[in-house]
Amino acid sequence: MNAPLAHPNWQEILDAICEDIGPFLNRGKVADYIPALAEVDPGAFAIAFAGIDGTEASAGLSDTPFSIQSISKVFALCLALELEGESLWGRVGREPSGTAFNSIVQLEQERGKPRNPFINAGALVVTDSIVGHCGERSGIARLLSFIRRCARTPEIHINPVVADSEAAFGDRNRSLAYFMKSFGVLRQDVPTVLDTYFNQCAIEMSVSDLARAGLFLAANGTSPVINEWITNPDRVERVNAIMMLCGHYDMSGDFAFRVGLPGKSGVGGGILAIIPNVGTVAVWSPGLNTAGNSLAGTVALEWFSHRAGINLF
Ligand code: GLU
Repeated sequence: MNAPLAHPNWQEILDAICEDIGPFLNRGKVADYIPALAEVDPGAFAIAFAGIDGTEASAGLSDTPFSIQSISKVFALCLALELEGESLWGRVGREPSGTAFNSIVQLEQERGKPRNPFINAGALVVTDSIVGHCGERSGIARLLSFIRRCARTPEIHINPVVADSEAAFGDRNRSLAYFMKSFGVLRQDVPTVLDTYFNQCAIEMSVSDLARAGLFLAANGTSPVINEWITNPDRVERVNAIMMLCGHYDMSGDFAFRVGLPGKSGVGGGILAIIPNVGTVAVWSPGLNTAGNSLAGTVALEWFSHRAGINLF
């Protein structure tokens, strides 16, 4: 870690970021491959910090729910590892892909085994595992209640319009799923897995909820929010490692280089970053860079890690 501030004034840091970020808003392009996502205000911005000591700070539209999209893949992975254990790694790898989030290109060469759980193919395997363990009807309910429990926020919900839009424009995900089923990598009924996945991507919450929900990943697996064990410390280390290497599609290297924290982005413009043993920071700004990561959100996190001195390297 780079000389961390002894007691950073998190609120001051977030307020300053919120004030300075203006020129970066509206620069990125809102995800429009799903019509329901294209309707979001590209100028929106929010940031929140949650500390393992109970400190909370936020700035901008920090209570506005947004579509967490692929950030759900972090929670789904933690739940699937709890349900299935290490055998999950027989069906999904933990290497950066260097390809876009919805790419099919590596799958044939690698006999249907996705590179990591944070590209769509890998996330579908994770969802397949949850469906296999919870039953066809209960997978999404189990994941939603897991996230609500981590955040201690029962209001976290699925946006049905976004879920329908995911399904209506989900042919690439369908292709990935059936392709993996042909290799035996997916085991459950494909329409059920896809329906669960589309709903999981449509989960909405605010940055304040998201920062709280992820706190167990900064606290060795026991959430200070609810004072309950969520997962084992060694699992936390592994999930954080995958976030660091694979959390930002084919710009994961760039995020690690600039921010130096494990993080996961979603095409809704959110990013969750973990500061091990300190806390979490969540940011939302819907304009995306060319790899599908929040443009202003990445800048904000770069400033955040620099100003608080919490870059892991
Ligand atoms: N719902 C999106 C999809 O599967 C998730 C995209 C993302 O955030 O990476 O296409």
